[in-house]
Amino acid sequence: MKAKIYFRGSLTSCNYDCPYCPFSKNRDSAETLAKDRAQIEAFVEWVREQGEIGEHSLSVFFNPYGEGLTHRWYRTAMTELSHMKHVKKVAIQTNLSGRLDWTSELNRDKAAFWVTYHPGQVSEEKFLQQCNKLYEQGIAFSVGSVGLIRAFEPLLSLREALPKDVYMWVNAYKDRANYYSAADIALLQSIDPHFHINAVDYDSRGKSCDAGYNVFYVQGDGRVKRCYKDRQVIGNLYRDGLDALSKRRPCRMNCCDCYIGYIHMPELKLENVYGDHLLERIAVTR
Ligand code: SF4
Ligand code: SF4
Repeated sequence: MKAKIYFRGSLTSCNYDCPYCPFSKNRDSAETLAKDRAQIEAFVEWVREQGEIGEHSLSVFFNPYGEGLTHRWYRTAMTELSHMKHVKKVAIQTNLSGRLDWTSELNRDKAAFWVTYHPGQVSEEKFLQQCNKLYEQGIAFSVGSVGLIRAFEPLLSLREALPKDVYMWVNAYKDRANYYSAADIALLQSIDPHFHINAVDYDSRGKSCDAGYNVFYVQGDGRVKRCYKDRQVIGNLYRDGLDALSKRRPCRMNCCDCYIGYIHMPELKLENVYGDHLLERIAVTR
């Protein structure tokens, strides 16, 4: 099977303190960190074993609650996975604040970063320096942020400063109805030509979705949820394996409003926009 696996361990901490985020400046106990590390390592081992069995080709996306790359075990996991033959892609969501010397060890053909810019937490200069470290090595990454109106200026400035061929996405702020004027939308669209894709909540109930079929949302202990939004557990990765877990399951939610979910709705055909870079959100058409 060609499967995409989202993996999230027990981590719930971050070195940034974004005001809207439950993980900001949270500190995990030594026990929680040890648990998270053991979960990541067990997962990497499981992926390695799949290569020995030779049945699956895997793409992996780490989406921790917080910042993973400040911890060595995430860096090691990214590096090791990127060199496994049956792993097609390994990507992670990150604020890119940590050291990046280790990235020279990555297999550049497979490793990728989904980088989120938090204008209140880091200077543009520092953030650009970090992005350039990836860019100069030819490592794939996207950059983006939430399109809050107060962030328009820093986002425009960043777009101007980033190399032209680095794709920048903007997540629509959806917590307030009619938040954007037509001019706001035009401005965001000028930063992210695919902003309109994220600005919509997709009617999804009863519709076909690859979640639970060849896309799996795995928790640290191996439990697999139906998707990022539907918390029903469909089994355990380590106990059941991908073949037993895989089943066509129509969506049970009223709408799908998050990139890591709606990209797996076949009817949207978003592989036409993101090609092989769907997981890390790099548009191939601009
Ligand atoms: S960088 Fe991300 S995880 Fe960290 S506080 Fe900000 S929003 Fe939360
Ligand atoms: S909410 Fe989204 S990701 Fe989850 S099953 Fe429905 S369409 Fe798929």
